[in-house]
This record gives sequence, structure tokens and C-alpha cells, in this order.
Amino acid sequence: MNLYFDHNATTPLAPEVLEAMLPYLREEYGNASSIHRYGQRTRAAVERARGQVAALIGAEPSEIVFTYGGTESDNLAVLGAVRASLLPRNHLITSAFEHPAVLYSCKALENEGVAVTYLRPNGNGFIRPDDVRGALRPETVLITIMHANNEIGTVQPIEEIAAIAKHAGVLMHTDAVQSTGKIPVDVKALGVDLLSLSAHKFYGPKGIGALYIRKGLKLAPVLFGGHGQHDLRPGTENVAGIVGLGAAAQLATELNHSEAKRLGELRDYLEDEILRTIDAAGVNGIRAGMRDGRFLRVPNTTNIHFDYVEGESLVISLDLHGLAISTGSACSSGSVEPSHVLTAIGVPAQRARGSLRFSLGRQNTKEQIDELLQALRQVVARLRALSPETPEVQAETAKQ
Ligand SMILES: *Cc1c(COP(=O)(O)O)cnc(C)c1O
Repeated sequence: MNLYFDHNATTPLAPEVLEAMLPYLREEYGNASSIHRYGQRTRAAVERARGQVAALIGAEPSEIVFTYGGTESDNLAVLGAVRASLLPRNHLITSAFEHPAVLYSCKALENEGVAVTYLRPNGNGFIRPDDVRGALRPETVLITIMHANNEIGTVQPIEEIAAIAKHAGVLMHTDAVQSTGKIPVDVKALGVDLLSLSAHKFYGPKGIGALYIRKGLKLAPVLFGGHGQHDLRPGTENVAGIVGLGAAAQLATELNHSEAKRLGELRDYLEDEILRTIDAAGVNGIRAGMRDGRFLRVPNTTNIHFDYVEGESLVISLDLHGLAISTGSACSSGSVEPSHVLTAIGVPAQRARGSLRFSLGRQNTKEQIDELLQALRQVVARLRALSPETPEVQAETAKQ
């Protein structure tokens, strides 16, 4: 049995996406910048994909720059926006539970003398717009707050925060890598100037993504080497990857709300059953999925703590059952530190270490969730029986 519940780490390539890419890995090998017909054909494919990505997020094709993925998009947005601003505007606002691609970009800017405010989310997993307003300074140049959190799935009130940014004349970036393809993402509705997305998080290929840059906005480049894509992205384009991103965007646009609804129901079932049948387990962050027709969490994600056990041990034991789940983000696995996301929302370190992230996707079914639940109950019970932290085990040891 091999079942995959780690779609926030990456998703499988959709068969339609692979089909769309294949010609560009075989006979259509022209450099999209070449003038001859080989180049004309791949240029046309790249521009078609740009249109597909733009359509997914309500942008214009000229506002889309292709990157090597979410990480580069985040770096280009944060470094490019701040470095393009004229001193003395040298302050930016972000949150303590951003993806490392944003956090480390901010750290790099701190080394260049930029001041950074790291806002703490509340215990439910949300950044309060009032806190953003309170952190504004005359020299603030950028606010960067993620749309959906990759570990707990909470969807941030980006519309409100972007309105605050606009009112203050400050640029607004959002990392929408975990929301794109899962819930509606529209740059105009959100009111953002910059938005990052990545193909492999919504059934496209790895190593390709995009940054939305509102028309008229000038960023400082991070890569140098030529005049590609508004001088921001020099180098020969990854045509097959770009075509794959376009095809994945097209699929996500076509998949209406039905898949979000199906995944939300599966996720709620998984959560309900875990809480009903396993003691000392609970959801990290908010449990509600929606409020007033708005998503509070992306529908495929839940993050659950299992007290008295180590998340890493759970992951390894579940893997022996053929079940792929993770403790948190793929980027921090192997680290002994508790998740910075769970810590930021106030989960104690011990509890954070005993937490798992379940992220569902297109292939998952209710039968698969039932298999997962059965294995999970066994594994948690077995590890708890061995754990010196478990109250029953402690009582036994005290008697001896
Ligand atoms: C995965 C992820 C990224 C990084 O995207 P890559 O394409 O893997 O570089 C950035 N932000 C968030 C929220 C992510 O989940």
C-alpha cells in the first residue's frame, strides 16, 4: 500500500500536464529568444502559458514573470521591491510564520541595514490587520504576508492588509504558493502588488513558478545576464516547465469549486475521526474551514498534535505502513527545532514536536482516509506505550 497525504510538500504531475510538456522535451527544442521558426514556436508556447497563468489569478499576461519556483518568486519580490526603493525607506513588515523563502530574504535585507518587523500570528493562526497598521512607519516600503500557511493552512486576511498597505502608500506582496489552485486567488480582489506561485504545488512540474508584478511597478533584479522578462529574469527560458505551469494553471482554472468542497469534506472527516478515536490529540490553529463564505483554511490541510509522542517517530512508523505524511514543511525536516510556524502560534515546543501535517489532494479518497486512520490509531497507541512521557507509562514506572 502506498498512500500519499503530503500534497503541501509537492503534488504529482497531472497526466494532462505531462502530455502538454512532452513536445517541448522532444522536437520543440528551440530557444524562445531565437528569431527563426524554432524560436517562434517555443515563444508562442511560452506566451500561451503566460496567458494561462494570468487567467488563473486575474492578472494581465504582461504582469507575469516566470521564475524557477516559489523560492525565487519570494526572493525577487522581497529583495527586488526593497532594493528598488530609495533610501531612507528601509523598513519592511512580515510575519513570524512565513515560508523560509521570505524569512531568509528578510534576514538578508537586515544584513544590508533594512529594519524588519516580524508580526506574531494569534493562537488561531492569523495575522491581525490592526497589528500590521500598528507596525507601519514613515519609512515602511513593503508588507509581505503569506496567503495560506503551508503547515496549518490558515488563510490570511490579505484583502484587509493590502487595503492598509495601499492607504499608507506601501507595497504589498503575498506568497500564494499554498493557496493557488486550492481556493480562488485573484490579484485584483486581493489588492496586492506582488504575488508568488509555484507549479509543483498544484500538479505542475517542479522548478518553475511565477511572480505577479502589478503593471508599472519596478523591481531591482536579483539575477543578471540579459534582457529577458522586463530585465528581471535573464537566461534561456525553461520552455517545457513554463508550458507545464500553464497547463496546470488551466486545469486549476477549470476545476471549479467542486474539488475544494470534496477535499474540505475529506479533511473534516479525517479531523473528526482523529479527535473522536485518539485521546490527547488536537488541531493546531483554528478548526473552522469557512466563515461568511470565506475560506479560513485551505480545504486540504490539517495539522494535529498527538501528545506524548514524537512527530518524527510517527512519520517513520507511518511510512513503514506505506503512508506519506510529514511533521511540517519539507524544508525543515531533519531539523531538531520545533516548527517555527507552530511556535509562532503559541504551541508549546513539546506539543509542536508531536504534531503532524496532513495535506490531501486529487487522488485521495474516503477509503484511503479510513486506511490512514486505522494505521494512525495503531501507531500512536504503540509509540505511546513505549513513551516515558505517557501518563499510564509513568504511573507504571512509579509503581515498580
Ligand atoms: C513550497 C513553498 C514555497 C517554495 O516554493 P518552491 O517552488 O518549492 O521553491 C514558498 N512558499 C510556500 C508557502 C511554500 O509552500
